[in-house]
Amino acid sequence: MAPRCWRWWNWAVWPRTLSPPARSTWSSCRHFSAQETPQICVVGSGPAGFYTAQHLLKHPQAHVDIYEKQLVPFGLVRFGVAPDHPEVKNVINTFTQTAHSERCAFWGNVVVGRDVTVPELREAYHAVVLSYGAEDHRALGIPGEELPGVYSARAFVGWYNGLPENRELAPDLSCDTAVILGQGNVALDVARILLSPLEHLEDLLLCQKTDITEAALRELRRSRVKTVWIVGRRGPLQVAFTIKELREMIQLPGTRPVLDPADFLGLQDRIKEVPRPRKRLTELLLRTATEKPGAEEAARQASAPRAWGLRFFRSPQQVLPSPDGQRAAGIRLAVTRLEGVGETTRAVPTGDVEDLPCGLVLSSVGYKSRSIDPSVPFDPKLGVIPNLEGRVVDVPGLYCSGWVKRGPTGVIATTMTDSFLTSQELLKDLQAGLLPAGPRPGFAAIQALLSSRGVRPVSFSDWEKVDAEEVSRGQGSGKPREKLVNPRDVVRLLGH
Ligand code: FAD
Repeated sequence: MAPRCWRWWNWAVWPRTLSPPARSTWSSCRHFSAQETPQICVVGSGPAGFYTAQHLLKHPQAHVDIYEKQLVPFGLVRFGVAPDHPEVKNVINTFTQTAHSERCAFWGNVVVGRDVTVPELREAYHAVVLSYGAEDHRALGIPGEELPGVYSARAFVGWYNGLPENRELAPDLSCDTAVILGQGNVALDVARILLSPLEHLEDLLLCQKTDITEAALRELRRSRVKTVWIVGRRGPLQVAFTIKELREMIQLPGTRPVLDPADFLGLQDRIKEVPRPRKRLTELLLRTATEKPGAEEAARQASAPRAWGLRFFRSPQQVLPSPDGQRAAGIRLAVTRLEGVGETTRAVPTGDVEDLPCGLVLSSVGYKSRSIDPSVPFDPKLGVIPNLEGRVVDVPGLYCSGWVKRGPTGVIATTMTDSFLTSQELLKDLQAGLLPAGPRPGFAAIQALLSSRGVRPVSFSDWEKVDAEEVSRGQGSGKPREKLVNPRDVVRLLGH
């Protein structure tokens, strides 16, 4: 007789493009009784991981374990969001509430794909959700990219935010001009941090508004960077940053914007056709580029010692070396023009080039997810796990959420919506009897595996000890916290 769960195997319930589940996985499928505990685990403790867990816990019996490779939780909220945007980090309070649920546990210091495999997690849990974000950066793929003085924006952001692997980056800020390749919000974050005058940073410190690392502050105090060019292949209508970040840049104390009015010719008529958020953004760009500022603003700009500008219609071709070949001294840009309309607008080279001298090149052309386990389908071109509404294609019981599900775009709010959707689908499958039932050991089995492999997970209460220590260290320098950037210090503190 067919196992009981096959009676529920029904194309109306399971998405059409998924293959029928393997019998071994499903042989014990049935509905969960009210007393049974669905054991679910989530891989990654960024916004996607925590929001997924939060929604899963709406199921009255579900237990959720969150595995995280770092010793500390919160992903890009801690290691990506700019240190002068403390209000964005308030989501940590919600995540902390989730972690305090007695049906939720955080296990840091566990690298899934290395310390424990996804098949092992699938054996131990009824369902596994992959929410491990996008940890790589997109390479430029141009000559000279490897020269000293060229950094990925990801590493630069990691450095000023205390990401352990980037803590020793020590970028050389002794040059006059920096070029950022890419025109998204990350590019503006990096430009703002590079150009923030010391007094501005000190003010933020006084108000306990920045958790930038001490090492980054030291280098920024010594920085000689006066001009930052933010370069994009396409035009003002295609920038990827948003209006809030642009406004902040325009108002950044001690700096003035440099925009070429020629880049905006004919735009006035075209912005009528674009959606409202883009219209407002382009109008602000247009005003900044073409209108004379009022007397006060003009005086402010005239006395500003630093400048930033947007260079449109330029595509990077080569990082130019210094005469001794030892480091970056400039960048060769191919001049482009646009072909096509709307979303399909492409930048094509005109054949002209322009050399821009600079001592620092930061590539901010995007983050990228990687495959962490050969058993999990992965689309290397799109950099995502192929999925249907969060169900991993062809792998029953496996789900994904966040940047690894939909690609590395969108803010925390977008990630929240997306993660709630994945959890809803998972809970529907649970309700429909589509997940393997019967008791699953959950963390007990994984703990035994980790212990046999010499891996010691870090709990949420361990994190709270680290948190208290960081907050206390920050008090001396007027910061909300001074991050422990060296994993050894964390391990020592925890006595592991
Ligand atoms: P992540 O936040 O990257 O979380 C993934 C987690 O998975 C990480 O903790 C990672 O360590 C862990 N992980 C990775 N691999 C493994 C593994 N093998 N095993 C176990 N764990 C693993 N949004 C805003 O709303 N406001 C902002 O101001 C803002 N600023 C940003 C600044 C930067 C520089 C960047 C890059 C993004 C910013 N965002 C901002 C966007 C926001 O950070 C993302 O929408 C969100 O973090 C995506 O969540 P995620 O959980 O998918 O990924």
